[in-house]
Amino acid sequence: MADAKPGNAAPAKKAATGAFTPSGVSPNRRARRSYTIRLWAVRHARFLEWFYHRFASTFLLLHPLWKAIGYSRVEAPITFIERNVKGLMFDCRMCGQCVLSSTGMSCPMNCPKQLRNGPCGGVRANGNCEVEPDMPCVWVKAWEGSRSMVGGDAILKVQQPVNQSLRETSSWLRVTAQAAEAREAAAKDA
Ligand code: SF4
Repeated sequence: MADAKPGNAAPAKKAATGAFTPSGVSPNRRARRSYTIRLWAVRHARFLEWFYHRFASTFLLLHPLWKAIGYSRVEAPITFIERNVKGLMFDCRMCGQCVLSSTGMSCPMNCPKQLRNGPCGGVRANGNCEVEPDMPCVWVKAWEGSRSMVGGDAILKVQQPVNQSLRETSSWLRVTAQAAEAREAAAKDA
């Protein structure tokens, strides 16, 4: 049996399966359908901002209900709904600390480098990602979306690094609990 010679590297595992890989795209490209809905969300960032404010107010109104049932008990079903709704709309990765309203409704966790404070230096001339060449850079889209939003300048705010311990938890519930706490503290001080 012939020894493998240096330089005669074995073909990549993926090629050995015979799977068809279109030329000119990254192997980990995502379905175009996801881009389509994601890009729709960016184009309608202003409407989604308006909708989110109403949605968050409704969730806050329901705070007594969440409290009565127990935030920890409602966590699983709400996380399930949040994952599916935001997964469809924004390709959400459930980081648990949502910044969509500060990023033009373009989820920064879809950046292959997971940058939370703007693009890297590798954006292509056509506005696409350097790692996934057929994907529009999420930060180019974030800027476009933010320009149509009332609070779009929030994109200029520096974001904290991702707290990995919050992954797979509900942002909706966290924001609601924090808002309810702030409201109760303000009422006490008044
Ligand atoms: S910022 Fe986090 S919670 Fe918001 S859509 Fe992206 S992954 Fe999901």
